[in-house]
Amino acid sequence: MYMNNQGRPTRPETDDMTHSETCTGNRALQIEESLIFEGGDMDGTGVDLPKPKGSGNRLGGLERQSNINLPGLAEPEAMRHFVRLSQKNYAIDMGPFPLGSCTMKHNPRLNEKMARLPGFGDIHPLQPVSTVQGALELIYTLATWLKELTGMPAVAMSPKAGAHGELCGMMAIKAALEARGEADTRIRVLAPESAHGTNPATAAQCGFKVDSIPADATGRVDLDAFREKLGPDVAGIMVTNPNTCGLFERDIRAIADAVHEAGGYFYCDGANFNAITGKVRPGDLGIDAMHINLHKTFSTPHGGGGPGSGPTVLSEALAPFAPIPYVVSGKDGFELVEKRTQDEGQSFGRMTAFHGQMGMFVRALSYMLSHGGDGLRQAAEDAVLNANYVLARLKTEMTPAFEGTCMHEALFDDRFLADTGVDTLDFAKAMIDEGYHPMTMYFPLVVHGAMLIEPTESESKQELDRFCDALLSLAKEAKAGKTSKFKAAPVHAPRRRLDETGAARKPVLRWTPPAGDAASLAAE
Ligand SMILES: *Cc1c(COP(=O)(O)O)cnc(C)c1O
Repeated sequence: MYMNNQGRPTRPETDDMTHSETCTGNRALQIEESLIFEGGDMDGTGVDLPKPKGSGNRLGGLERQSNINLPGLAEPEAMRHFVRLSQKNYAIDMGPFPLGSCTMKHNPRLNEKMARLPGFGDIHPLQPVSTVQGALELIYTLATWLKELTGMPAVAMSPKAGAHGELCGMMAIKAALEARGEADTRIRVLAPESAHGTNPATAAQCGFKVDSIPADATGRVDLDAFREKLGPDVAGIMVTNPNTCGLFERDIRAIADAVHEAGGYFYCDGANFNAITGKVRPGDLGIDAMHINLHKTFSTPHGGGGPGSGPTVLSEALAPFAPIPYVVSGKDGFELVEKRTQDEGQSFGRMTAFHGQMGMFVRALSYMLSHGGDGLRQAAEDAVLNANYVLARLKTEMTPAFEGTCMHEALFDDRFLADTGVDTLDFAKAMIDEGYHPMTMYFPLVVHGAMLIEPTESESKQELDRFCDALLSLAKEAKAGKTSKFKAAPVHAPRRRLDETGAARKPVLRWTPPAGDAASLAAE
């Protein structure tokens, strides 16, 4: 068994261990790292200061009785700790991140430089408006780009993620229904079976009843089944386009017309807007509200790397109900509308304390301006081209879930693994050994053993070929009966295969000092 310096096992011992043992548990550049509390000693600090003279204790009974137990590390030790931890994580700066539905693309360093400019990075939301005119202009300009790209008349900038944008759109729909006096009768929201979990969750959060629409054989909304579900109690529909199967909903205009005819609203989940930016304007498709994940479509770090931002565009019908605050351009410069009384008073209110994710706004606008309108269109085209290249190469060994071309992500099912004893999870774990982050697995739910691959436009053909070669080799090995290799994978990762369910259900989040230590501290 490999142990760290605290006697905790670092990785399991198994029969098929392919590594020769080292004394330290380290393996070349892969260095075992203990918890920060375990590394130093409690009395150590990064700086040595002389004890202050002549200042008596003025804390009275409030003075500390026991050791504070902060980890004590010298400065280089603290730095090494975090660098080593960072090296245990896969990152978009290390290799392709093929997670479908997440759009993990290159984050240009220019965006980071812009976001750190003092005029954007060092301001406070409570500063007088006259001192942050540049920042307000940036929000206003970004809002203008978003309205232009979507063909929509209004946008709420404050939502802080895609899911928060969905909440914004559905709250606007609720407010519009209230204004019509129909909030009590229109209680049902339709959403396709393949929807991202946040869609039904948002509708339920707003008090609606969720009714799911089946997919047809081509992976799209079943139009007849959808029409049958329409009625006077329908508040609206939530549809993702391109959908979570990576396919364009060809009947989207018919869907919009039908839901409007039935008196409902059309919410579009715009998480996949990067596939159609500059090609199609959601406003022309009859959409009433759509969030845009700035952190997906317009390249800002997300996941472990940073916060999200989910501006939500609104149609003429929903614009009056938009949340506050919003930026307007007046004769004295840019102003913030912060109170309902400043407008018609129909706004449904406030979603967040301040004005949205400023850092994300700067990064998104930096990305837009450096690409230009034509560059954004090309990014969408290249994202679709790359996904279809991956689809075309991989379908020689793997099984596409649906026939035909795809949009920005390629979806496979697990039919190619039938009778191999290898399942989608094993296949994904084997990818880790090959140096790749796995694709999105088991989503969307409508496809058995789903593997959803989104290469994005920012990978080169050479990089895509290396990725495809790896997956094709794995698929061949699975079919050739190398099942045990897949069941054991990953063997090269620091912790091998984890009990992910256990980690999620019973997370161990608190460090407790070894028994001896606790006793000695108490005695001090
Ligand atoms: C990512 C995503 C969301 C949620 O966005 P967050 O920013 O993670 O809250 C919703 N729908 C789809 C289709 C997505 O891919």
